[in-house]
Amino acid sequence: DQLISQIAAGEVVERPASALKELLENSVDAGSTQVQVTLQQGGMKLLKVTDNGHGIAKEDLELALTRHATSKIQSLEDLEQVGSLGFRGEALASIASISRTLLTSRQAAANHAWQIAVEGTQGHTISPAALDAGTIVEVHDLYFNTPARRKFLKTENTEFGHCEDAFTRVALSRPNVGFLLQHNGKAITRLAANTPQQRITDILGNEFAAQSVWLEEDSGGLRLWGMTASPTYQRHSRDSQYVFVNGRFVRDKLIAHAIKQAYQDVLHGDKHPAFVLFLELDPALVDVNVHPAKTEVRFRESQAVHRFIFHSLHKALGKTSA
Ligand code: ADP
Ligand code: MG
Repeated sequence: DQLISQIAAGEVVERPASALKELLENSVDAGSTQVQVTLQQGGMKLLKVTDNGHGIAKEDLELALTRHATSKIQSLEDLEQVGSLGFRGEALASIASISRTLLTSRQAAANHAWQIAVEGTQGHTISPAALDAGTIVEVHDLYFNTPARRKFLKTENTEFGHCEDAFTRVALSRPNVGFLLQHNGKAITRLAANTPQQRITDILGNEFAAQSVWLEEDSGGLRLWGMTASPTYQRHSRDSQYVFVNGRFVRDKLIAHAIKQAYQDVLHGDKHPAFVLFLELDPALVDVNVHPAKTEVRFRESQAVHRFIFHSLHKALGKTSA
């Protein structure tokens, strides 16, 4: 049973960046306005996320580490309308089962904080702790008890790069939240709470912003907004293609195809377009529960979504659609 849960954990927590993504989503779901990430050795030694969100009550601390315990949905109907980034209730339990995890949290009204310590599948202890309102999750020595998974880790730089990607995606999706990323004792990225436009510029750079158009389209219950680079923009080596559906970073073939088509006749050579796009639609019309990592989605009316994205981009790129 422990073994099975550790195998399942490997599915959710493929590498340190997957754990970081889940921790960041939890902080954002908790309504935090400041989130701080501290990493050591690409997240392999330490992943620490500190937030000022609503915290966890003492009696819920244990539950937070229990598989399939989520405070975010109560029923299957809720799943149709899911507004939070998390809802499966398996991330923290998975992470804790394959690391040494310290969870410290305090709700604003509580007298003090509580801390729960878990070491792999060993039992846990709860003790009083000192902390202002919010939550700190410290994940030490990820995969310490799953050597097979540990073998798949790449170099510190590679793992850090993946962590940075996870950080960037959440930061792009929540411009109203301040973020800080530190690695091996050095501040890497500091982002003040800002407008969406400024957040995108802070992350993709002034050059991208100067050569992009701001796009905002609304039609038939679909809304698309964001920044998309002019076809002449020379992207940097880093991949600069971001799509979010209802505030969640996704990789979606249908959307990618619609964007590619819109760029196709204005792009020359093998340049890749750069964009940060946010699609919003009724959550009931999109299934986000396709894969544990929640980066895949299914649209109920996929053709309408494809058409809408294609036409919106085509228009933004200064072309009139035939
Ligand atoms: P999910 O996010 O899918 O609900 P998780 O395993 O990620 O499941 O988290 C379990 C529960 O722990 C959440 O439902 C939430 O109640 C609580 N939790 C986790 N992280 C935080 C946090 N940073 N702030 C407040 N509550 C949290
Ligand atoms: Mg979660």
